[in-house]
Amino acid sequence: MHVQGLFEESADTVEGSHQHERAEQRRRKGEMAPAELWGAAPLSLHLGDETLGLTGKLDSLVHEDGCWIPVEGKHSASPSADTVFQTDGFQLSGAAWPNDQIQLCAQGLLLRSNGYASHYGYLYYRKNKAKIRIDFTDELVNATLYFIQKAQQLEQAEMPKPLIESNKCFRCSLNYVCLPDETNYLTGVATPIRRIVPSRSDGGVVYVAEAGTKLGVHGESLIVTSKEGVRFDPLPIKDLVHVCLMGSVQPSTQLMHVLFHAGVTVSYLSTHGRLVGIASPLTTKNVHLRKQQFMKFQHPDVALRLARFVIHAKIANQRTLLRRNGVPATAVLKELMALRKKSEQAASLDTLRGYEGAAGRLFMSSFSGMLKWNETESGLAIMNGRNRRPPKDPVNALLSFGYSLLTRDVVSACAAVGFDPMFGFFHMMEPGRPALALDLMEPYRPLIVDSVVIRVLNTKEIGIEDFYWGPDSCQLKKNGRLAFLNAYERRMHEEFVHPIFGYKISYRRALDMEARMLARHLEGDLPEYRPLTTR
Ligand code: SF4
Repeated sequence: MHVQGLFEESADTVEGSHQHERAEQRRRKGEMAPAELWGAAPLSLHLGDETLGLTGKLDSLVHEDGCWIPVEGKHSASPSADTVFQTDGFQLSGAAWPNDQIQLCAQGLLLRSNGYASHYGYLYYRKNKAKIRIDFTDELVNATLYFIQKAQQLEQAEMPKPLIESNKCFRCSLNYVCLPDETNYLTGVATPIRRIVPSRSDGGVVYVAEAGTKLGVHGESLIVTSKEGVRFDPLPIKDLVHVCLMGSVQPSTQLMHVLFHAGVTVSYLSTHGRLVGIASPLTTKNVHLRKQQFMKFQHPDVALRLARFVIHAKIANQRTLLRRNGVPATAVLKELMALRKKSEQAASLDTLRGYEGAAGRLFMSSFSGMLKWNETESGLAIMNGRNRRPPKDPVNALLSFGYSLLTRDVVSACAAVGFDPMFGFFHMMEPGRPALALDLMEPYRPLIVDSVVIRVLNTKEIGIEDFYWGPDSCQLKKNGRLAFLNAYERRMHEEFVHPIFGYKISYRRALDMEARMLARHLEGDLPEYRPLTTR
């Protein structure tokens, strides 16, 4: 968490933050917090010491007999048995958890090094209302100095391996970053894959597509006000993962601050759905990963190996989509199978691009075979191969819009992990082109966007009346756009059984997991990166 700057909230961390926030509010009002009922002064004291290699914030202090006594409140309960803890060769009191004693002692050391006498402190465990005095004994001071040094060494060390079948993982706020059982399984450690990671994120995506709409913030909620001044129901920001602004929509600076603070990304799309930009919070400092990314993606063998897997998965998923939607052209399926096999052996990126292009043309030539709405019924060509900038028929208008949304989601997933989305291993790098996001999304185009396009047209959620149809371009009208956004989000929320891990997971979660898996591979924790294929 501290070395790589990766953080995920859990129920425990949210509760902890709220308790800190409540204590801070009481402090500002000059009220006494629970820990202060026995004399601690409410404060927010930042101390640092270069020799110790430590900085810290002290929340509460008691001044007794000329000594300064740090007081630290904990959300949990104290240990039940008062035995001795053995940790890395040190013997610590069993009255409080060793990590809490070391944290408190580190505060004492900071006080001492800044000229304040400090010989003991108090831990207050809220769950069982236990107030425990911790003496800063030589043993505890030595343990604290040892762990400060060990923490500094960790910064240069490799990522520790995940624990094996540990029950701690269920409540660990980092389980979604760490993916303990998945990593162990993929590295060959014989372990069952437990349902630790939630199948989907509860966070929602807000789309604002009406020109002139204003977005602001009130308390911890997003406020949307229409051009006519109508104010909609507040949306709690804690329930959001992303805000998507289409066209001339105006968010306030205050809102942007609050969204970034909450880890919410914001994307800007043109009125017609072209991705213009993405703003994301500085939640990661994962420099180590970016170093690995720049180093390894430049290596031709690494880039080719990754690209082969990605294109292999994309062709496999295209083939599956055709099969599932009853395309009878067995010749096409056979040819796709042949290209899929060839892609595994491609001798260069250019050869691989050739296979990918050939597979793409075959797939697109069979695309209209998956649609129930055809030319004869409407009198108009619903699709003329793949065309874009601008799209010239309804299918291409939907595909282009959908790929923009998917690019946005993959850029956000890359940014959350700490990748530079612009530096990829397969797509050519051009200014303004998120090459890595385009690489990673290849297998997901058929799984998400192509599948949504087929669904909305075949179920008539979107019909011919939902398009502006000109001689040179075809664009979605407002209702069609809203229907497509709904269908896209439904698909991202939809769960499927993960073919390797065997548990249910949403497509959005799978996409995020994909970026994390690639990161774990680049950092040497996973032997291989194999993108998702469905059967
Ligand atoms: S191994 Fe388990 S406890 Fe350790 S970081 Fe990973 S999920 Fe958390």
